[in-house]
Amino acid sequence: MVVKDFDELKALGHDKVAGKIVLFNEIFDKQKAAGGMAFAAYGESVRYRGAGPKAAADLGAAAALVRSVGSADFRLPHTGFSFPAGIPAGAVAAEDAALIAHLAAEGKVRMHLTLTPQKLPDAISYNVIADLKGSEHPEQFVIVSGHLDSWDLGTGAIDDGAGVAVAMETAEILQRLHLRPKRTLRVIAWMDEESGGSGSQAYSKDYSADFIHTVGAIESDSGAAHPLGFAVKMSARASELLRPVLEILQSFGASALLPTSYPPGADIAAMAESGVPALSIMQDGRTYFHYHHTAADTLDKIVPSELRENAAAMAVMGYALANMKDPLPR
Ligand SMILES: [Zn+2]
Repeated sequence: MVVKDFDELKALGHDKVAGKIVLFNEIFDKQKAAGGMAFAAYGESVRYRGAGPKAAADLGAAAALVRSVGSADFRLPHTGFSFPAGIPAGAVAAEDAALIAHLAAEGKVRMHLTLTPQKLPDAISYNVIADLKGSEHPEQFVIVSGHLDSWDLGTGAIDDGAGVAVAMETAEILQRLHLRPKRTLRVIAWMDEESGGSGSQAYSKDYSADFIHTVGAIESDSGAAHPLGFAVKMSARASELLRPVLEILQSFGASALLPTSYPPGADIAAMAESGVPALSIMQDGRTYFHYHHTAADTLDKIVPSELRENAAAMAVMGYALANMKDPLPR
């Protein structure tokens, strides 16, 4: 059964869906992505990868497939998290989804699925944390971060090797410039962002007492393209106090400040919810979903000069937060 959305699936009902393989053939809005709204386009499509298998299973489907999400079609499947559904689930490349949809419109289609993923037992792994100790308030923290893990189709260069490199480079830049911030700059490479966030959960458990002394948390997890500025979850008064920082960021086009109601960054979400001013670098997303979560997420997609701009953006913001006279108001 080929459906384009949840409503169409629901309208078919249990009798028509039971025992069938359901293909969610929702087409990614490439124009929206090309126009600078890539994350909105992603959000609209990725629902089917996340919740599609469960919706199909609830109507008795034998398996669920999703048309790969992405702003470019290279006949590559796009992977990522799905809610457990108890039935086999997979992604097919956009070109193959289109072919299956075409054939299904002509008549009955039979498919044989060979799905090889396995869920292995949990293993011990670690967040990697490094502190550049503050000179006046070592007990207060500014967190700069990215995540270590990736989907293993590619090498995870843009998601999120770039974020880890940028966070590490923030401390490196301050060292190289002989700048010693008043507060501690804490570099974190988070483990397990992609498969449930157990790394950031462990950090919350072990360090929740530090949240009150954490004056800001920054994450980079949207690739390595030119930084446009920051998405922020903080009070209006706090945003206002960042104005002088934005003037510096303006010199390389990274001065946009976009207030969000949701936490900007999965790994800093618990801190954001507890009131820590939270920021994520907002990269130009126009090509991010060409490669995201596919075998094409490799280092050659990263433009070194743009990666350096990201490191500069995080370093300027991280240093400002760590060196302000008073912490940002919550
Ligand atoms: Zn990521």
